Amino acid sequence: MRKIVVLVLAALILASCAQIRHSDVGSGDVSSAYGSESTPDLKNDTSDRQNTAESEPLTAAPETVPDSGSGTDTEPIVVSVTEPPATEPPVTEPPVTEPAPETAKKDDLTTDGGYKYCSGAAKYLEYIKTENLTLVNKQNEVPEDYLPDLYKKTGMMKEAYFALQAMFAQYKYETGKTVSYNTKLAYRSYEYQYNLFAKYTRQEKEKHPNYTDEQIRQLVNTYSAIPGQSEHHTGLCLDFTPVSDSFAKSDWFKWLSKNAYHFGFILRYGKNQIDITGYKYEPWHWRFVGRDAATEIFTRGITLEEYLGVYPPSSGQESDALELPPDDLN
Ligand SMILES: [Zn+2]
Repeated sequence: MRKIVVLVLAALILASCAQIRHSDVGSGDVSSAYGSESTPDLKNDTSDRQNTAESEPLTAAPETVPDSGSGTDTEPIVVSVTEPPATEPPVTEPPVTEPAPETAKKDDLTTDGGYKYCSGAAKYLEYIKTENLTLVNKQNEVPEDYLPDLYKKTGMMKEAYFALQAMFAQYKYETGKTVSYNTKLAYRSYEYQYNLFAKYTRQEKEKHPNYTDEQIRQLVNTYSAIPGQSEHHTGLCLDFTPVSDSFAKSDWFKWLSKNAYHFGFILRYGKNQIDITGYKYEPWHWRFVGRDAATEIFTRGITLEEYLGVYPPSSGQESDALELPPDDLN
C-alpha cells in the first residue's frame, strides 16, 4: 500500500510540475517578446500600439504623400489608412491660395504726374492730358446753333468722355464700386436749355407770385443758365445724380473731391464762388479742362474764370478767354 501511496504521490507531484512548466513557458514567451517588463507595461504597449495605429497615419500622411509616390513594403498600410486625411489638405488649401489670384489681378500701376493710375485708367492718359479750356458763362455765350464735336452718343467730347471713363475705372479699382452717368445730364442743346429755364421760371413764379419777371429771372439764373449760357452746351461737363446738395454726401463725390483733378476734372461751381462763377454751389456738376489746368485750379482753390484770368473782369480780356471757334462768335 505504501508503495502505491508513494507512487500516487509521485505521480501527482510530477503532474503538478508539468502544469507549472507549461504555464511558465506561455508567460515566458510573451515577456521575451516585449522585454523583461511587467504585464502592466505590456498592456500599455498594446494600448499605445492601438493609439498609434490610428494616430500614426495622421502624422505620417503629410510626409509620405508628398515625399514618395511609390513606397516601401510598409507604406501600403499607411497609404490605405491615411487616404482620407490626405484629401483634407487640398480642401483647406484653396482658401489660402485664393488671395493669390486677387493679388495677381492687381495690375501694374502707371505713375504719371505724381499719381498712380490703374491700367483701366492709364490707357486714357492721352485724353486726360488733353487741354480744353472752352469758357461758357454769363459773360461768354454760345451761339444757338453751336454743336460741339460729341463722341458718338455719349453727350460728351471725346477727351472728356474718356477721361470720365478713366475716373470710373480708377474708382472701381480702388473701391470696387461702379459709377455711371446719364448722357442726358451731359450735353444740352439750346432748345433743351430754353425749356429747362422756362420750367424753373414757372416753378419760381408759383413760389413767389409777388416777384417781378426780372426778379424771377435773376433767381432762376442762380442755379440754371439762361439759354446760350450753359456750360452743358460744350459737351465738356456733366451732372451726377442725385442733382441735389445730397450728392455731396456720397462716397463718389468725396472721391471726386480728392481725385478728379488727376483726370482733368474740376468742381465747376464751388461753395461761395457765386460772385465769380455766377452760380450757387453745385456739387454734382463736374467739368473737364485737362489735367494740367485742373491740377492748378484744384491746388490753388480757384475757379476756371480766375485760371483764365477773366476774373476780376477787365475790359478787353473776356473775348481772349473765349476759346470757341471764331466762326461761332457772332
Ligand atoms: Zn450741370
